[in-house]
Amino acid sequence: MTTNIELLLKNTDPIVSDILNNALSEKEISIEEGIELYNTSGVEFHLVGLVADEIRRRRVGDTVSYVVNRNINFTNVCIKQCGFCAFSRDFREEEGYFLPTEEIVRRAKEAYQLGATEVCIQAGLPPDMEGDVYENICREIKKEIPDIHIHGFSPEEILYGATRSEVTIEEFLKRMKDAGVNTLPGTSAEILDQKLRDKISPGRISVKDWEKVIKTAHKMGINTTSTMMFGHLETLEHRVKHIAKLRDIQKETGGFTEFVPLNFIPDEAPMYKHQLHEEIKNGASGSDVLLTHAISRIMLNNSIDNLQMSWVKEGQKMSQLLLMWGANDFGGTLINESISTSAGSEYGQLLKPKEIRRMIKEIGRIPAERDTNYKILKKFDNTNEIDSELDKITDTSQFGSYVELVKINKFNYKNPRVK
Ligand code: SF4
Repeated sequence: MTTNIELLLKNTDPIVSDILNNALSEKEISIEEGIELYNTSGVEFHLVGLVADEIRRRRVGDTVSYVVNRNINFTNVCIKQCGFCAFSRDFREEEGYFLPTEEIVRRAKEAYQLGATEVCIQAGLPPDMEGDVYENICREIKKEIPDIHIHGFSPEEILYGATRSEVTIEEFLKRMKDAGVNTLPGTSAEILDQKLRDKISPGRISVKDWEKVIKTAHKMGINTTSTMMFGHLETLEHRVKHIAKLRDIQKETGGFTEFVPLNFIPDEAPMYKHQLHEEIKNGASGSDVLLTHAISRIMLNNSIDNLQMSWVKEGQKMSQLLLMWGANDFGGTLINESISTSAGSEYGQLLKPKEIRRMIKEIGRIPAERDTNYKILKKFDNTNEIDSELDKITDTSQFGSYVELVKINKFNYKNPRVK
């Protein structure tokens, strides 16, 4: 395989072939070289994918991992108005909801009983929130299900919790760890460029604070994921610099478990719907998505081993292709998904473990269930396919949907300060 790639590289554009040969020799790819790879077409375009796939094979083998998890987005009420966010509601809007802690715990328990090892908890930032809301949620979940892994609270939420509690980020993270949080999602990153953030989401957590939360968490032994939202207003340089920044953080802390490129879903996003910026794109094209995953794999080689694609954003068949362009992780079963669904994604909110395994096997790879920190829990070959409790569910309407949730009166948001 390698020999074939090297032969192909000999007969191609010398600049691209030098970069790709360097990548295959484990050399670090610079920002300028990353941009060069984005500008490929024809044979060179396909070679970027082939090299990313080869690097993936050498780094993590042919196993494709996934996690059995449930998303709990416990409120959509938010004080911010990010231009890409179709999920949030102002506290005065009828569709604002806030799940009581008992309901959050019920959802976590239900997922655990169906085989989930993780709950992923993220939400909007409701006004006047008491500073200990996040801690209480974690404590109540852990009281009932000590074994479940709480993957929750983005850097934006950690900063909000610290601000509302009037403590430092470090102190707040310590409280969260004591309350049971295990890892943080590295969301609210979008593109780590302050000028661009000020355009697409004024008031969003700053680049400086995002890095501060992430590095502090890593130094305290709390791992995080890392993400990038692309296909909106950013340039190729923004993207490559973002990936390089994550690589630098990883060199310093080693706390990132994975990187997830997230394609912008435009349909219901306010900045696209209302055309707030002249140059706004409607998400990245299929070829751009392929290249972005491949370049991420190439640039993050030797630093972040796991590259996840988002089936919620890309759909199932594109996800299979992305596994051939550098990705090695299928993400989670989710059970509930609100963020992409509210933005207009059409790919549903639950993928059963057996469906994930089927798609992985269809492309000749080996499925494996993992935990949140990428420990493999079980590898599946053709001889040990057993339906889990989640696989056996035939009527998935029992899990509810975002569309239904915003209409349930008992979950309507009520400001705690207004009696
Ligand atoms: S992305 Fe998060 S912080 Fe921004 S408006 Fe949506 S829920 Fe609020």
